[in-house]
Amino acid sequence: MNADEIKSKIRNISNFPKPGIEFKDITTLLKDKEAFKSAIDLMAKELSQEKIDYVVAIESRGYLLGAPLAYKLGAGLVLVRKPGKLPAAVERIEYDLEYGTDVLEIHKDSIEEGKKVLVIDDLLATGGTVKAAIDLVKKVGGDVIGAAFLIELEALGGKKKIPEGTKLYSLFKYE
Ligand code: AMP
Repeated sequence: MNADEIKSKIRNISNFPKPGIEFKDITTLLKDKEAFKSAIDLMAKELSQEKIDYVVAIESRGYLLGAPLAYKLGAGLVLVRKPGKLPAAVERIEYDLEYGTDVLEIHKDSIEEGKKVLVIDDLLATGGTVKAAIDLVKKVGGDVIGAAFLIELEALGGKKKIPEGTKLYSLFKYE
């Protein structure tokens, strides 16, 4: 399946979860066996030149892409989770949302010093979430070489939050 066909499987839902937001629903892509496989294969192809030790996936839709991608790239999978879910000692980061703050956690011992990391989420919007995840990985000693997304909403300018030296991979861009 080519890129345009895969992209056409993403469903747009207006005014969800609140008025003015156009939600990119990837459930319609994931349930299509050809689209799901082709999307993972395309992402893996774009990343095939990188030497990646760990794919760090962000809860929860990041897991749906991060797990098959890590398997395909021959990398380990590390989870960034919402607070209180990881059982061993964690590093935590608090970050600003439009209203209020949120917290993400990672196991302190999940990444050895200097290992090469790709952070992955389903979608890049304002970039606040991925910036927090990147900072968390750095706290535990990882070297974040890239950030990958199925979807980038370019108008929201999230790529400005990705630090210099970290490559941005986004499969589908929307203006
Ligand atoms: P941000 O921190 O603003 O880059 O937001 C990214 C996170 O919010 C990702 O984990 C997305 O799953 C979710 N998200 C933000 N905007 C949308 C949207 N329009 N459609 C679907 N998910 C979104």
